Amino acid sequence: MESQCAIVAYIAFGANIGDREKTIRRALDLLRETDGVRVTRVSEFIENAAVGGPADSPAFFNGVVQIETTLLPEALLNLLLDIEQRLGRIRREKWEPRSIDLDVILYGDEVVNTDRLTIPHPLMQERRFVLEPLVEIAPEVIHPVLKISAAKMLEQLRPRLAVSQNKPD
Ligand code: ATP
Ligand code: CA
Ligand code: CA
Ligand code: CA
Repeated sequence: MESQCAIVAYIAFGANIGDREKTIRRALDLLRETDGVRVTRVSEFIENAAVGGPADSPAFFNGVVQIETTLLPEALLNLLLDIEQRLGRIRREKWEPRSIDLDVILYGDEVVNTDRLTIPHPLMQERRFVLEPLVEIAPEVIHPVLKISAAKMLEQLRPRLAVSQNKPD
C-alpha cells in the first residue's frame, strides 16, 4: 500500500450478541486481511449497556479502530457491510441486537453526505461509547465540521458537575 496516498480513518465497532469479543477480533482480522487497509491502532473493548434498542437488549462491547486506507469512503462502507454480513449480522430493524456493527466515524478530514453515507458519523459527538475509545487512541484528531478534537468532544459530553455544585443556594 502506498502510504503517501492513504487516508487515516476511524471505525467504531460494537457487538452485543454471540461471543462479542471473538466476533470483534474476527472483524479486525478481516480488516487487516483487506488490501488497501492497514490497521494501525485498536482501543480497548469497553462494555456498555445497550441504549435505544429493544428493551432487554444485551450489553455491548464497543471500541474504535484506526486504519490507514486507500479505499474511497463508499468502498470502505461496502467493506464494512460485507464484514458485518460475513460475521452473521442480520439486518432487520434499527438499533436491534447485532453480532457486529461497524460505522465509519471519521475519514481523514473529509465530509460526506450521500443517501448511503454520512461522515463524520452524525451521532459520534453524542456517544460516550464512541468518544472514550477514540480519545484513548487519538485524542488530538479533529472533527472536520465542529473543528474540535476528540478530547474536547468528550469533555463537552461530561456532565458539568462542577458548575451545578458551585451554584448559589
Ligand atoms: P447508527 O447510525 O445510529 O449508529 P446503526 O449503526 O444501527 O445506527 P445500521 O442499521 O447499522 O445503523 O446502518 C444503516 C445504514 O447507515 C447503512 O446501511 C449505511 O448505508 C448507513 N450509513 C450512513 N452513514 C454511515 C457511516 N458513517 N458508517 C456506516 N454506515 C453508515
Ligand atoms: Ca491489509
Ligand atoms: Ca452504529
Ligand atoms: Ca451501522
